[in-house]
Amino acid sequence: MVETLGHYINGRLVAGRSGRFGEVYNPATGEMTARVALASAAELGVAVEAARDAFPAWAATPPLRRARVMFRFKELIERELAALAAIVTAEHGKVLSDAKGSVTRGLEVVEFACGIPQLLKGEYTAEVGGGIDAWSVRQPLGVCAGITPFNFPAMVPLWMFPIALACGNSFVLKPSEKDPSCALRLAELLAEAGLPAGVFNVVNGDKEAVDGILADRRIAAVSFVGSTPIAEYVYREGAAAGKRVQALGGAKNHMVVLPDADLEQATDALIGAAYGSAGERCMAVSVAVAVGKAADPLIERLKPRVAGLKIGPGTDRDAEMGPLVTRQHYERVKGYIDIGVGEGARLVVDGRGLKLQGYENGFFIGGTLFDHVTPGMRIYKEEIFGPVLSVVRAPDFESAVKLVNDHEYGNGTAIFTRDGDAAREFAHRVEIGMVGVNVPIPVPMAFHSFGGWKRSLFGDTHMHGPDGVRFYTRMKAITQRWPTGIRAGAEFVMPTMR
Ligand code: NAD
Repeated sequence: MVETLGHYINGRLVAGRSGRFGEVYNPATGEMTARVALASAAELGVAVEAARDAFPAWAATPPLRRARVMFRFKELIERELAALAAIVTAEHGKVLSDAKGSVTRGLEVVEFACGIPQLLKGEYTAEVGGGIDAWSVRQPLGVCAGITPFNFPAMVPLWMFPIALACGNSFVLKPSEKDPSCALRLAELLAEAGLPAGVFNVVNGDKEAVDGILADRRIAAVSFVGSTPIAEYVYREGAAAGKRVQALGGAKNHMVVLPDADLEQATDALIGAAYGSAGERCMAVSVAVAVGKAADPLIERLKPRVAGLKIGPGTDRDAEMGPLVTRQHYERVKGYIDIGVGEGARLVVDGRGLKLQGYENGFFIGGTLFDHVTPGMRIYKEEIFGPVLSVVRAPDFESAVKLVNDHEYGNGTAIFTRDGDAAREFAHRVEIGMVGVNVPIPVPMAFHSFGGWKRSLFGDTHMHGPDGVRFYTRMKAITQRWPTGIRAGAEFVMPTMR
């Protein structure tokens, strides 16, 4: 008998009623560890109703009190850090140290949200006219929803709801059905931190729940993170239903290595950035652009490192890389390696066929390295989302920049060089949302905002940081005068200061 996971609605765990379930696996063993209820539109509606009922009182709670709930929530995440990381590893598969790091990056958004009284302060101008003052305030939107991917079951939800809640909104989270346990635990911790019932709800589900969110007129705003086709769909449908939407999609992140780079550093960076979390990161480097004479020595250094990656269950302290999330995803990644071979790329290290003793049913694939990949190939154009690094050879800096800019995705990129001039030029001209200079995975800290360009983000605002506050609030401008004893009479012309 495996556990059955339900939803968290109006301050308590409730069983699913739709009769539909998804399966949750331990990716290291291949065993099914839980069933998760997949909500019907009606069940989603119950959560939205709870969030709508809870909204007025929460919005009227002074920001400082809301911040104090976040402060207690921060302490509880710190207390539960190891346990939360263990849940991430059990359902996603990534190694424990990396899981801890991801929970910590989420925790940092909670820390940012603790400063919400400062962040919500508006702007004030005395004397915009004679005896007239004006100011602006940011007010919450109402019920907000979050739809999140499998690869960061703690961090990505934490990018969204701490800021939404601190701004005074209520929230309905629809986590990935592949690893839903973390979200349920975070809901319990929020309740323990003193968040009133109904302000935060978790509805597990699939497309039916997502479509329910998009159609529900009571939901004011939707934050989405996932693959590009679904991000585009969520953006289109959500906007058509009158919602504010930010939808972050897939990626194909290039790391450009110039011939003057420290190749040992560049190799270390590529190994961590391409194979960490088995490549299941939206900021993973999946393309190395080797410029000029950097190519041969880079391949020479990468080959033994990729072949020697320590692969094992996420609970193994020595493992550098765990399994992929599901059997289906394993088959997909393996299929891409077959495609790359068929397209004529040179397979330098082949991760297919890896078997780990004692974990024969786990979803493990070895680190894979392709050389001589070209822009026309599917393994270059499409997001593989696995431990597969493609090396593209570029003759010079200009063609490397063109390559990055011509790709449809625009999430992250990096340049490795000792030439400050080239790095500055790259950072300025590259059409990508997040850029690293000798930093392979330039994920902005919580007090900056995270987001890509082109088909990696649909919407106008990035996530967390200042853009998070903008997304989860609407601006109101107030103009005031107290004209005691003065009668100016009716005015029929636009008031001006001339
Ligand atoms: P996914 O798009 O399959 O799923 C994301 C969410 O959408 C899940 O909650 C899922 O239940 C829901 N969903 C799936 N299919 C749907 C459909 N047909 N209609 C409506 N909803 C649907 O993504 P995933 O496989 O969980 O996550 C991996 C993807 O997420 C990768 O493409 C990765 O690059 C991307 N990602 C992007 C970022 C970023 O910040 N840009 C961060 C993390 C992950």
